[in-house]
Amino acid sequence: RAKKSLGQNFLTDLNVLSKIVSAADVGPEDNVIEIGPGIGALTEQLALAAGQVVALEVDTSLLPVLDEVLGEYDNVKVINQDVLDVDIAALIDREFDDPSKPVKVVANLPYYITTPILLQLLNTEVKWSKIVVMLQKEVAQRLAANPGTKAYGTLSLTVQYKMDAELAFEVPRTVFVPSPNVDSAIVSLEPRKKELAVKPDDEKLLFRLIKGCFSHRRKTLSNNLQSVLGKGAEIKKQSLQLLEDLNISPTIRPESLSLDQFILLANQLKQRNLMQ
Ligand code: SAM
Repeated sequence: RAKKSLGQNFLTDLNVLSKIVSAADVGPEDNVIEIGPGIGALTEQLALAAGQVVALEVDTSLLPVLDEVLGEYDNVKVINQDVLDVDIAALIDREFDDPSKPVKVVANLPYYITTPILLQLLNTEVKWSKIVVMLQKEVAQRLAANPGTKAYGTLSLTVQYKMDAELAFEVPRTVFVPSPNVDSAIVSLEPRKKELAVKPDDEKLLFRLIKGCFSHRRKTLSNNLQSVLGKGAEIKKQSLQLLEDLNISPTIRPESLSLDQFILLANQLKQRNLMQ
């Protein structure tokens, strides 16, 4: 029986499974990490295509099934651990025969911890070759969203700061057992090809600014900025001056700002002592 609390919606449709493996472009040179192998359907396809597969499954009761499905593959290791408790960089060094080979994450994620998992993967020092994951469709759209769209926000900017994100394809809920209450999509992440135009002087400040600016999406950028910086006529005057200097209209919504513009803004806020 699938455990709802662990986000268990199993995927057995071979057509979808092979589309995921090709979206990740998995080949014999690749080290692959899978999060949540479940009953091993995707794991088996990965085992057939990859050099080595390390799969992290928290649910101990699935281990006998995984053993049976994957027993014949000597390039697969199943590790019974909560992914969020794992030091991913150390795992790679410890578990792969040759950790210097390209490392990819390929997974049908447990949706209840999508964001923590993504942040964990992005905040390691690991140079990912690719991250290809099944997500709730709305979340997939946020990851890949461009400025000026409804889906664009903190999560888009957090991911796109390090990776190019692309919504690869959508997956109907009917192919899962049991079928979840939401539609799904596959997202493909690769390290950014284009370097950032400007580097942030202070990453933490940048993301505090971004979060603050998106806390009231319907309000203008200038109003959001006021709540981040604090009220007061002098602060308001200085922040309006700063927006003018950067050629950013104070009446636009925060979703109109590109990542490069947020970085410029963050750097200037720090330089002018409006934020520390
Ligand atoms: N890969 C399988 C498939 O495609 O059919 C299963 C995917 S299912 C959506 C999510 C899987 O993640 C389940 O097997 C669940 O037990 C596992 N899981 C849930 N929370 C986890 C955690 N914290 N760490 C590792 N695995 C977890």
